[in-house]
Amino acid sequence: MSTVHDNARELQQALHELRGKLSGSLIEPGDPLYDDARAVWNGMVDLRPRAVVRAGALTDIEVVLDAVQRTGLALAVRGGGHNVAGHGTVDGGLVLDLGPMKRVQVDAGSRLVTVEPGATLADVDRATAPYNLAVPLGVISGTGVAGLTLGGGVGWLTRTGGLSLDNLESVDVVTAAGEHLHASGQENPELFWGLRGGGGNFGVASSFTFRARPLPAAPLGGNLFYRRKHWRNALLAFAAWTPTLPEEMNPIVSFLVFPPEFGMGGDPWMILGFMWVGEDHQAGLDRVGQLTAAAPPDEQEVGPASWLDWQSAMDSVFPKGSRGYWKNVSFSRLDEETVDVLLGFASEVTWEGTGIDIHHMEGAFGRVPEDATAFPNRSARYWLNVYGFWRDRSEDDRLTAFARKAYALMQPFAEHGEYVNFLGAEVGLKEADAARAAYGPEKFQRLVALKDRYDPHNVFRLNHNIPPTQPPPG
Ligand code: FAD
Repeated sequence: MSTVHDNARELQQALHELRGKLSGSLIEPGDPLYDDARAVWNGMVDLRPRAVVRAGALTDIEVVLDAVQRTGLALAVRGGGHNVAGHGTVDGGLVLDLGPMKRVQVDAGSRLVTVEPGATLADVDRATAPYNLAVPLGVISGTGVAGLTLGGGVGWLTRTGGLSLDNLESVDVVTAAGEHLHASGQENPELFWGLRGGGGNFGVASSFTFRARPLPAAPLGGNLFYRRKHWRNALLAFAAWTPTLPEEMNPIVSFLVFPPEFGMGGDPWMILGFMWVGEDHQAGLDRVGQLTAAAPPDEQEVGPASWLDWQSAMDSVFPKGSRGYWKNVSFSRLDEETVDVLLGFASEVTWEGTGIDIHHMEGAFGRVPEDATAFPNRSARYWLNVYGFWRDRSEDDRLTAFARKAYALMQPFAEHGEYVNFLGAEVGLKEADAARAAYGPEKFQRLVALKDRYDPHNVFRLNHNIPPTQPPPG
């Protein structure tokens, strides 16, 4: 019979062997790099893995999966480490940090962009921008492409180009059994369906291929700033404006208190940000003029934008180590009743820090058939994201409660489906119930069938987990 002591020695030996096979590095407690290696974006998630592997090559994925099978250690897979629920780390388990694998290759002729799994949004934007190309991604440049894309990917090009996952041509995956699979519309199409929204449930994505979209050399970007007394009129004007918008227009409404260095005072602002990617700036300005005629802003900045500056403009508000708990609601009604409820909690946003975004969807996002990907709900006109980015741990209970309250107040207007990337760690909900609620019963069943096929032992469980029906013996 093996003893605790033997087991510890065996584990140490297994990790020693793993280290010898890696082209990257293995970092354990006691290593001066350990605290940095274990940290993820969400400072509330303060866990101590048994080891962190910083992957250097594709073969490192295989040897880590093999080590997980041998040792039984729980596995966390990390891309950019921005997962709000903190799924990119694990107490006492093994972290596969793909961060060092961040090469991006652009074929300007075909517009195909091949991305390694540790790339951030900044890595992709920097590679595509010189060709006046862009992959629709998110709005904070340090976010990982992998987690963002496997869950969805909402940002400044969603109406023009759909979600990040809608722009995928293929994904390469290493399964729990070490099998290398290419998933696309032609090869392993059911797996490709599940990877587009089902998160990291089915394997380690080792490469993503996107088809980028043409972008004007200087798209038109703008922010309209409204003080609180003008919010109601402005949000109702926004509601009247959105149904008529062409797909070149990508608006996001935010409620935020700006950091002191922005010089915007201590009161919350409503900011109607937009990115117009039509070639004709005047056509974009005319659209904005319709809105500002109905709701004149207190301040505004509108003009040609550098794509790279635009994509990183808010980075300083969300530094690594921020504490965060997020909730989201999809909805289509934005009438007086909804606006009053929304503004009730929007006026409670604080620096530092809670905020609210309302993403206007539809357009290219809404034209994707409901069953084409695992992403839940294509028909909602808006997605609300209630987010946190505070530093003071004594604020945890109060600001977590704020997100929950906002979520509860919006339930009368909510449509089905939740966006897993805008979800914090759920407390008190069984995993299966949370996933069923997020995806809806039909998509959830289809995802479970994929899970049974590709990860029946639930090796990939540190995510918004799709539990297999019943793990097979052994
Ligand atoms: P990680 O924590 O590294 O990974 C998240 C999870 O993805 C992992 O637990 C794993 O399950 C899975 N995963 C990661 N890499 C792989 C892989 N190679 N193979 C298999 N599974 C993998 N979302 C938007 O849509 N739009 C936004 O504008 C946006 N802005 C954000 C801003 C901030 C400040 C933050 C914190 C988050 C934001 N998000 C946004 C949410 C973001 O999409 C998710 O948090 C996403 O999970 C982050 O991906 P990541 O690779 O950085 O995270």
